[in-house]
Amino acid sequence: MPDQVHILVIDDEQIMRDGCSRILSKDGWSVLTAENGKKGLEEIQRHPENIDVILLDLMMPGMSGMEVLDQVRKIDPNLLVIVITGYATVESAVEAMKKGAYDFIPKPFTPDQLRIVVKRAWERRSLQKEAEFLRKERERSLRDIATEKSKIKTIINCMGDGVLVCDRDGCIVLTNPAASRMLMTSETSLLGNSLSQCHLNSELSRTIEESLQVKDIGYTSVSQELSLGESQEFFLRAHTAQVRNDVGETMGSVTVLQDISHLKELDKMKSEFIAMVTHELRAPIAAVEQQLTVILNKMAGDVTEKQEQLLSRAKERTKGLLDLIKDLLDISKIEAGKMVQYKEPLALQEVIQRVVDLMKVEAEYKKIDLRFTAPSKVPSINADRNSMEGILTNLISNAIKYTPEGGKVWVNLGEEGGFLKVTVSDTGIGIKKEDVSRIFDKFYRVKTSETRQIIGTGLGLSIVKSIVDAHLGSISVESEEGKGTTFNVLLPKESIQTA
Ligand code: ADP
Repeated sequence: MPDQVHILVIDDEQIMRDGCSRILSKDGWSVLTAENGKKGLEEIQRHPENIDVILLDLMMPGMSGMEVLDQVRKIDPNLLVIVITGYATVESAVEAMKKGAYDFIPKPFTPDQLRIVVKRAWERRSLQKEAEFLRKERERSLRDIATEKSKIKTIINCMGDGVLVCDRDGCIVLTNPAASRMLMTSETSLLGNSLSQCHLNSELSRTIEESLQVKDIGYTSVSQELSLGESQEFFLRAHTAQVRNDVGETMGSVTVLQDISHLKELDKMKSEFIAMVTHELRAPIAAVEQQLTVILNKMAGDVTEKQEQLLSRAKERTKGLLDLIKDLLDISKIEAGKMVQYKEPLALQEVIQRVVDLMKVEAEYKKIDLRFTAPSKVPSINADRNSMEGILTNLISNAIKYTPEGGKVWVNLGEEGGFLKVTVSDTGIGIKKEDVSRIFDKFYRVKTSETRQIIGTGLGLSIVKSIVDAHLGSISVESEEGKGTTFNVLLPKESIQTA
């Protein structure tokens, strides 16, 4: 028996108090006694937590058992009171039960009878306590959940990034003020509505819907840039991820939105600055190159062999600088959306032929066999002539640059489904697998012992890719180290006919 449990015996007869105390103490209970009602109540007040069962004599001088019972019920209605009655007072026992006593035991009683009635009361009390404990636990965990919920809500509401959470049916279940501000709508028009109802940016809606459909466990997140506002002057970066439960089922999606308008503005300023500087540099460097050419052509007098050597080197470096300036200006134009400005019906084979002819000298210099093949009839396309020349010049000059002497470079034009396909292949040094995915990045150059001597800016392919993208086409590359590289450019016929 738990020793902190007290049984209080309230009886005016000393023999009864001692008897009960002895029997129950033997069984391990801790027993308190009181010789009258008043003292009994004082004991209860003194040990409010520890007294569980009270044995109460109904017939006492002074304060009667009934009065004590009334008071006990007031102090704690859960306290279990067993009334002790004489034969003559069975009716009062019944009355006491009506008043809330738990049980009664008539006098005289045997030790076993006492044990049984006390044990029964204690069991009942234990159940009561356990129920009370469980109730408090539940209340506490509910309170914890509520606190946790409000904590998370507060954090999400204070975040600078926008948050948009959808359930698996595409209904918005959580959002924050930053998201409503960035999406230029109110929180109420988002919360509880489906994606189609709240007229979100169509690209964003599509991405969220797609993320909810994806079955692939490996799928993590999609990042995209969105432009908003009447004249598309605001920019957001949105990261959308799928939310799955423990068994891999899709539960919904989470989208985090970042306002990148100021970064875009900075980027624009930087590009404009680069464009301005490169533009200002071009004229003086071109003048230096021209004057070097004049001197090298001996139009300004004789040049010694040593001088010629030095001036040729200087001219080569100046040409490298002019190439870099050209690439930087092209990049600036692409970023400002001015690169592909004028689309016209174009016979692509003629454009290619012209570039191939121009590159012949460079190819011959390296003893490279440069060839161009095309079927006799190829549909003309609507494209920007300068941009197309830019693509071909970059791809063919790369092929020549990265192919050792005596190699082959061939260009082919053909049709593939709804596309015109331009292929530029070489028997050059090839590109390592790990570099292939990066060669279209701005300023990316493969660094090997073979490429170290080759001059370049790392901008050519990124310019090519931007032009192809602007024509709604695609570019791919196949390469094997030491064997050669093939670039395939596809230009869709649909974009070709519009423009
Ligand atoms: P770069 O000015 O360095 O040529 P590009 O953007 O045109 O810059 O090309 C990026 C990189 O891709 C190059 O540095 C080169 O390593 C690799 N590359 C491009 N074309 C070829 C090719 N035909 N063969 C092998 N490597 C190539």
